[in-house]
Amino acid sequence: MKPPAHAATNGWYNILPAPPRAQRVKGTVRVPWAVVGAGFTGLAAARTLAGHLPDQTIALVEAERVGFGTSGRNSGFVLESHFMPHRLPFPDLERAMAATRLCTGGRDILKSLVRRHRIACHWHDWGKLWVAGSRAGEEGILRQRQGNDALGIRHEVLGRDDVEALTGTRFYSAGLKVEGTALVNPAALCRGLADTLPANIALHEESPVLDHQQGRPHRLVTPEGEVVADGVILCTNVYSPSLGVARRAMAPLVLYASLTRPMTPDEAEAAGGDRHGFGLVPAARGGSTIQRTPDGRLLVRNTLAYGPAAASQPTRLESARFRHADSIRKRWPAIADIDIEHTWGGCVGITRNDGHLFGAIGDGLWASIGCNGAGISRGTMAGVLLADLVVGRDSELLRDQQRIPAPGWMPPEPLRGLISRSHLRQHAADIAER
Ligand SMILES: Cc1cc2nc3c(=O)[nH]c(=O)nc-3n(C[C@H](O)[C@H](O)[C@H](O)COP(=O)(O)OP(=O)(O)OC[C@H]3O[C@@H](n4cnc5c(N)ncnc54)[C@H](O)[C@@H]3O)c2cc1C
Repeated sequence: MKPPAHAATNGWYNILPAPPRAQRVKGTVRVPWAVVGAGFTGLAAARTLAGHLPDQTIALVEAERVGFGTSGRNSGFVLESHFMPHRLPFPDLERAMAATRLCTGGRDILKSLVRRHRIACHWHDWGKLWVAGSRAGEEGILRQRQGNDALGIRHEVLGRDDVEALTGTRFYSAGLKVEGTALVNPAALCRGLADTLPANIALHEESPVLDHQQGRPHRLVTPEGEVVADGVILCTNVYSPSLGVARRAMAPLVLYASLTRPMTPDEAEAAGGDRHGFGLVPAARGGSTIQRTPDGRLLVRNTLAYGPAAASQPTRLESARFRHADSIRKRWPAIADIDIEHTWGGCVGITRNDGHLFGAIGDGLWASIGCNGAGISRGTMAGVLLADLVVGRDSELLRDQQRIPAPGWMPPEPLRGLISRSHLRQHAADIAER
């Protein structure tokens, strides 16, 4: 595993204005604290630590531009809850409730930052709509209902006509509406968070940490210099093994997404549904996550691959784009030929047990690694709580976070890849709803 170098594009990022030139790490930067990785987790950890230690400088070191990495490549659902429906009834209900509180907590933090700093990221409190277009999907909706009931999450069951009124398509036979999730352009949100960091944070982008020499102090070696810090917080998620951390913890899975151009007013009329936007999550395995943005674009996410390199492979991107176009055609035939402007892949680190590496992992070394699918809100919350832990602040939410177990052991390569690819093949067989 190498540090990230996303050769391929990211649609959410592409539609933003070009950012000013990056401040790279050059020469020796000496700081008390360094946070590595400026995704949602690292942005939250750095911001919170800077608030706790206003007289100290915190270097936030990012391999790429903020918003270009996985945090800016996702479907943009700031989830208020998240659970694996195939693991019902919950083997540990307390843990599932703790995970829900962590999601909601992260969502609340982001919402208040977006409001306070007027971050332009198309934040839309629409909720999420679980959708089913097959028998597998309908079973998935039933499991979602069970899970939500167990967690005390209110939900509304919708039939085909209700779903059509919201989305404009009769593709789905059933839906389950859950309030509380917000929809965003995640790259814009990341950038807005970075632009509004406290003054005692020095953000260094385009500065991949190539080598981490542990000790007192730590040395983080980058292509043009080094950061020397007394304390280091790693928020590097799936790329952590390149720094010698979490080597047996995660399977690197690539998820693909596409973004269309904005619909014309005539197309928006023909497509129907809520013109202000909506967010659909598939109740069936292998289904499509879809966001209609407030400016009339469609974001479609489906198709998986193993290993970070797959995020940039042209043949894989082409085949994902083809599938995404087909998903749109099946749902909204009236706009079947709308142009897809961007297709990209993003790499996430999936742990076996929804586990999370969180806390002190060495002398002056801390980490928050592993967010299975809800990293916008869960990563934000974990980043905040890790900074709290570093300065010794306790809270109910910190105890919730500490209830989440460490990631289960995964076999080394090539076995890990073989097992994961075999799971993906089973997944791909389940394509009725793609
Ligand atoms: C297509 C897709 C759709 C998804 N949809 C959703 C969704 O709708 N909602 C949701 O909540 N989650 C979603 N996810 C998952 C979500 O994106 C992740 O859980 C989230 O990005 C995790 O955030 P993070 O900050 O922990 O890690 P990351 O976003 O991976 O951030 C880690 C950062 O560390 C940097 N880094 C790594 N190594 C180094 C190094 N050596 N030196 C310097 N910097 C380094 C990386 O460049 C990166 O910016 C989706 C993911 C994908 C790919």
